[in-house]
Amino acid sequence: MSTSHAADLVLVGGRVATMDPARSWVSAIAVRDGRIIAVGRDAAARPLIGPHSRVIELRGRTVTPGFGDAHVHPLHGGLARLRCELHGTRGLDRYLEIIATYAAGHPDQPWILGGGWSMDDFPGGVPGRAELDRLVPDRPVFLSSRDGHSAWVNSRALEVAGITAETSDPPDGRIDRDADGRPVGALQEGATDLVERLAPAATAEELLAALRLAQAELHSLGITTWQDAIVTPELEEPAYVTLAGRGELTARVVGALWWERSHGAEQIDEFVERRARTAVGRYAPTSVKIMQDGVLENFTGAVLEPYLGEDGRPTANRGLSQVDPDALKGYVARLDALGFQPHFHAIGERAVREALDAVAAARAANGVSDTRPHIAHIQVIHPDDIDRFRKLGVVANAQPYWACHEGQMDNLTIPFLGPERSTWQYPFRSLIAAGAMLAMGSDWSVSTANPLLEMEVAVNRIADVARHGTPPFLPEERIDLVDALAAFTAGTAWVNHLETEVGSLEVGKAADLVVLDRDLFDRGAGAIGEAHVVGTFIDGAPVFEDAALDG
Ligand SMILES: [Zn+2]
Repeated sequence: MSTSHAADLVLVGGRVATMDPARSWVSAIAVRDGRIIAVGRDAAARPLIGPHSRVIELRGRTVTPGFGDAHVHPLHGGLARLRCELHGTRGLDRYLEIIATYAAGHPDQPWILGGGWSMDDFPGGVPGRAELDRLVPDRPVFLSSRDGHSAWVNSRALEVAGITAETSDPPDGRIDRDADGRPVGALQEGATDLVERLAPAATAEELLAALRLAQAELHSLGITTWQDAIVTPELEEPAYVTLAGRGELTARVVGALWWERSHGAEQIDEFVERRARTAVGRYAPTSVKIMQDGVLENFTGAVLEPYLGEDGRPTANRGLSQVDPDALKGYVARLDALGFQPHFHAIGERAVREALDAVAAARAANGVSDTRPHIAHIQVIHPDDIDRFRKLGVVANAQPYWACHEGQMDNLTIPFLGPERSTWQYPFRSLIAAGAMLAMGSDWSVSTANPLLEMEVAVNRIADVARHGTPPFLPEERIDLVDALAAFTAGTAWVNHLETEVGSLEVGKAADLVVLDRDLFDRGAGAIGEAHVVGTFIDGAPVFEDAALDG
């Protein structure tokens, strides 16, 4: 073999899940100039080994296309790592310990910022200011919940924001109060802004450091492409533009521009301008994120029938439609006509329906476009709406890590949805059976960014932290591992309009691939989420590798 025809990289002796349309399995792959030049048997790939080729002996380990995360907040994940970080830990005592240590270690910071606490660790899901006041009486404290929909603040933060018993709730949120109407130190949805907007903004250097940190972490988990689910001109946009402009953005990223719900159609012109001005390198700001409701745990998810109360009887509350559903139809039709991809946040079954109705209106106005609308989270879907995903060409963008029995589900969701509606949650198998296209993502920093843990829950419907002795959640909605893997590879590539480049391992495509430490499909090899990524390649070049890759 002459050097000029030799491969730069050859992987042999593996179990390679190509995720091509036939879902074929091969044992070897060869790469030259960043492109896949051979996919097949070892005998076909070995002749491509030249004197300068890197050869990886897989010894039965799995190779997959690079993972894609269809809904993630990398900047927040990275910033959380740099601030008072409560993700990945549980319980009030532990939170207070971390906050106290952080406050003591950062005496010059005017505010204590951070978050990652779980609602489930507080009675009724609501934390209080008293604990924080004891640790930090003099500086404002603002700590977001794990899902970012609530905030835990101290008295000083309430004071600087001027929030008292007399302050009324904003239209898009709630100030939690005691029996006398006094703020308890928890803010929901839009009410979090009353305090957050006063906090010092992250500096440009902090934002860049956060994005770099996030990219490295995502690469170490096998992620090579993602859709950033909220891009604002203040935070994400400058970080992406700088990183991509310097050629440091190795991931392929689609940015979803944040729809400001207090504004109307006038912001669309600004999106057109930003799309043209900020696209650079591997960053493509071609999606628009519309948050249609809140979350169920704080009763802001938009539901068709009212939530039940503590007594099991219907309340008057059906949650919040953040954007008026009729106006939504017009906005989505206009965005679609301009070639923007609508990316909805919809948790409750009414929000899902409103998003589907908006796409139906866009289809009626524009015909079938190629903007590939997707609805993220899809926690509750009314059975009548399952079929509409395929019919309307709407991608179901699932965060499967939540589809299991755990505190937020068992204590803060099921009792308030009631028995029938609780069975409409995360209907992944029903969606696949109805022909819907499925993409998956993490919503990191809300949840772990590790796709293997997320796939495990999609397959078993049991939390990885409770593998033994927990019943599966709605086991009839479990999906096969290959379908979960497809959602994290081909499905996400499709959502990001990257399917001709990545998402499967085929000759001519970019060599974005992941090497795992074992045969992922061998169920004797342990839980899916126990597998580790040992190498991540983009365009045939390693962006993460572990000593075990060659070892
Ligand atoms: Zn999100």
